[in-house]
Amino acid sequence: MNLEQIKDIKQLLSQPKKIVIVSHRNPDGDAYGSSLALYLYLLKFNHQVTVVSPNDCPNFLKWMPAQDKIVIFEKEEKKGSKLLEEADVIFVLDFNAFHRVGVKMQVVLEKIKPIFIMIDHHQQPDDFAKYTYVDPEICSTSQMIYQFLDKLDHLDFIDENIATCLYTGILTDTGSFRFPSTTSLTHRIVAHLIDCGANGASIYNNIHDVNSYSRLQLLGRALKNMKVVDSCHMAYITLSQKELSEFSFKKGDTEGFVNYALSIKNVIFAAIFIEDKKQKIIKISFRSVGSFSVNDFARNHFNGGGHVNAAGGRSDESLINTISNFLKIVPDYRNELKKSYEK
Ligand code: 5GP
Ligand code: MN
Repeated sequence: MNLEQIKDIKQLLSQPKKIVIVSHRNPDGDAYGSSLALYLYLLKFNHQVTVVSPNDCPNFLKWMPAQDKIVIFEKEEKKGSKLLEEADVIFVLDFNAFHRVGVKMQVVLEKIKPIFIMIDHHQQPDDFAKYTYVDPEICSTSQMIYQFLDKLDHLDFIDENIATCLYTGILTDTGSFRFPSTTSLTHRIVAHLIDCGANGASIYNNIHDVNSYSRLQLLGRALKNMKVVDSCHMAYITLSQKELSEFSFKKGDTEGFVNYALSIKNVIFAAIFIEDKKQKIIKISFRSVGSFSVNDFARNHFNGGGHVNAAGGRSDESLINTISNFLKIVPDYRNELKKSYEK
């Protein structure tokens, strides 16, 4: 985003506007963190602003400032559609292609003509936004919102709640500041967010110390189901709908499970396959360390995408067939995986 565009956006936002902020389906900490931070910032300028989320967030995000103000499209389709249709400006945060919001909301987004502003850190964005600030090197959309406010010369507007939202997004998308996308700039930004009132310890506890007994039992089952393919430095986990039901699965319960597979010594490529009988799909998460691109892998074989080291996808086949296909595809990448492992 160059200076000219920043000037344009400043001009655009200098008068009260009808603004909607949209993030992707199955919102995570970064989706809600960036959306709510921008929402709280825009409210300070008398805009009519609403966050519309395709569906609800997991319980571990329910404490976030102003999250109760979010319109959940799945629950309030009429209201959500009206807001989108009447918006002058729509911010698209933490995703870059309309299909990421789910079919019903996608249909609405495709027929309206507001000014779209995309702020996102995924690769290969679709070309629908008038203004785009896209950088796959940045760890999180929340960090990008901070940098966006910096470009607008508005860092002074960051209050405790905005800082809390941005901190949450950066924390969750960096795996608590562990992933290589975490830079010195990330730490400098986070330091400033703490100065603005974000309480790192309590945010971490809000997100992580909410385990239920049944979730830990489900984790036990997932770990039991885990298989390792040594020759490909790969490990994967499966969870059937029956297993999810047995352990009273709730949204968000499987968050982070795939990282256990990736934590095995010599494993650099991990996947988790989760059966969703309601949507009739298998939802897949891929993770890698090093140069092996799970973004490419998910795009090429499982209708998905994401980042080099974290991506997702889906399959319309049964769980058994999906795994069988996966195990047929992976050996084609054996050399690439070996190379990445040896680097
Ligand atoms: P997760 O595995 O945590 O759901 O997602 C990891 C990353 O991949 C996130 O950045 C997410 O936005 C992206 N992602 C997850 N599922 C999909 C998908 O079905 N399609 C695309 N394009 N990206 C996905
Ligand atoms: Mn993100």
